[in-house]
Formats: sequence, C-alpha cells, structure tokens
Amino acid sequence: MTTSVAFLGLGHMGLPMALNLVAAGFDVTGFDPMPAAVTSAGEAGIAIAPSAVEAVAEADVVITMFPSGKHVIDAYQGADGLLAAAKPGTLFIDSSTIAVDDARTAHELAVGAGHVSVDAPVSGGVGGATAGTLAFMVGGSAEDFERAKPILEPMAGRIVHCGDSGAGQAAKVCNNLILGISMIAVSEAFVLGEKLGLTHQALFDVASNASGQCWALTTNCPVPGPVQASPANRGYLPGFSGALMAKDLGLAQQAIESTGVHSEVGILASEIYQRFAEGDGAGLDFSGIINTIREQSAA
Ligand code: NAD
Repeated sequence: MTTSVAFLGLGHMGLPMALNLVAAGFDVTGFDPMPAAVTSAGEAGIAIAPSAVEAVAEADVVITMFPSGKHVIDAYQGADGLLAAAKPGTLFIDSSTIAVDDARTAHELAVGAGHVSVDAPVSGGVGGATAGTLAFMVGGSAEDFERAKPILEPMAGRIVHCGDSGAGQAAKVCNNLILGISMIAVSEAFVLGEKLGLTHQALFDVASNASGQCWALTTNCPVPGPVQASPANRGYLPGFSGALMAKDLGLAQQAIESTGVHSEVGILASEIYQRFAEGDGAGLDFSGIINTIREQSAA
C-alpha cells in the first residue's frame, strides 16, 4: 500500500524535499498558507489540500518544515490543530530547525495525542534538498527512528539516529556552533594574513593541509580564489545565509544559557552573526562575515 504523506511548509526547503518524496512514489499532499508557495508547489506537481487539517486527515505521515518552534507548536495544538486532525498513530516528523526544548514539547504533545514523533532537522541547504542529499539528524526512540527512516531516505544523503526526542536538534545546534565559530576563525586568519603580507593562496595551501583544516576553509572558503565553488566567488550569494546562521546560533545561545555551559566564544559568535544579519548580511552567505572583520580592521 502506498504511504500517504502530508507535507506542510512548502518553502525553500520543503518544496524540493516534497518533490523527492513524490519522485520516490509516495502519495504526497501539501499545504502552505503562503499563496506564492502553493502556486509554485502546484506548478511543480504537488497535490495541494485546501487546509493543513485536510492535508493531514488521511495521512500516514506528517512532515513539517516551518520557520520556527513556535510555528510547529502552534500548528500542532488546539482543537483545530494538526494533532487533533490526524488519525491515531500518525507519524509526525518535524524537520524544521527549532530549539531542543521546543522539539521535546512538540514530541510530548504528539505522544499525548496518541501519535508517534521524531525531530529530524537537516543540513545541506536548498542544494541538498533539491538533490535529495540532506543530512538528517534524528531524535526519537529506536522504533520510531526505524519507522521514519524509509520516509527520509529519498530526501537524504545521510541519516543519523542521534538519541531520544530532541537529540536531532541538539546535534544540529552543536554542529552549527562549530561551523559559526570556525568561519569567524578562518575569516580572522585570512584578514590577519592580509595585514602580514600573505597571499590568500599561500595561507590556504598551508592551512588546508595543516591543523587549521576545516569545512569553513576547504569547502566554504571566505575569500575568492582558492575554492572555486565557494560563495566568495559569486559575491557571497548563499549558500547558507547570514540570517539562518544568526537564527541557528541564537538557538545555540538559548541552549548554552539553559544548560549553563561556559561558552564565551559561542555567545560571542552568536552576537557577531546577529549584528551581521541586522545589517546587509541577512541575505548574504554567512562567510561574508569576513568583509565585516576586514572593515573593522581597516583603521
Ligand atoms: P521558508 O520560510 O522558505 O519556508 C517555510 C514555510 O513554512 C513558509 O512557506 C511558510 O509559509 C510555511 N509555514 C509556516 N507555518 C505553516 C503552517 N502552519 N502550515 C503550513 N506551512 C507553514 O524556510 P526554509 O528556508 O524552507 O526553512 C525551513 C526550515 O528549515 C527552517 O526551520 C530553517 O531554519 C531550516 N533550514 C533551512 C535551510 C536553508 O538553507 N534554507 C537549511 C537547513 C535548515
């Protein structure tokens, strides 16, 4: 029997993810409150329900890909919410990037309403969503993970079971903390190298083969030249936007504060990207932070 999937949130990520499920033979019904998203999804071949509640009513699986935890919890709850509208035992997969605490709340609400749920945030961006190569970080019981895995596979390059409910979001926030900090470190090193008379290529050739090696340097290099595919070679078009990095490090900061971890650099990195996103960095790749560092070093 064909598995029916309600896909809610047909934005930059959700639409290409839903299309990969259609291509894999799932019976997908979508919904999004934004008319433009509905139009694009309809044109791309996704069946659209008149409302979220109608999309989930007959579904075996509900996938949400929303901007924030508040969107997820608000949509789940209430007499006219998704949990009340779905058949008992529906599998809820939330792939939005949200706070660990919100993911656990969403899970408890789903289980309390007689459903099964996992958090399954992703990395890989719109490119990964389109190519079906996203990395999924999944939080939930082993049994629920096994139920979710075949649904995620057509959208995934890699699927990791990270632990119980909330563990997928925990892994995502920790990974992006590393990413955000390491991009600042690489950018500061390039600007320091410029001041010391080093060419970008010389620093790249040394650090990419030495202990400074990291993804921020060798894949998403913040200066044009050494890595042809990096956003620095196309005017810092994202890629992974400054707005999303500011959002994710805001979630990291929330987790740092709620757990009491002494993370001076993490908090500082979060503040640096918040300022970047408040300026013109929101729509640029997060590696554009190097230009801010260079401007601040000009005096
Ligand atoms: P987006 O804003 O393009 O899409 C989100 C969509 O959710 C919007 O179209 C919105 O109308 C819809 N939505 C909101 N409430 C809804 C509801 N109740 N029912 C149905 N639809 C609803 O955002 P995006 O770039 O697709 O990102 C989605 C999530 O994925 C975010 O949590 C983001 O942090 C995460 N993420 C994004 C990227 C990326 O590169 N864009 C990468 C990794 C993770």
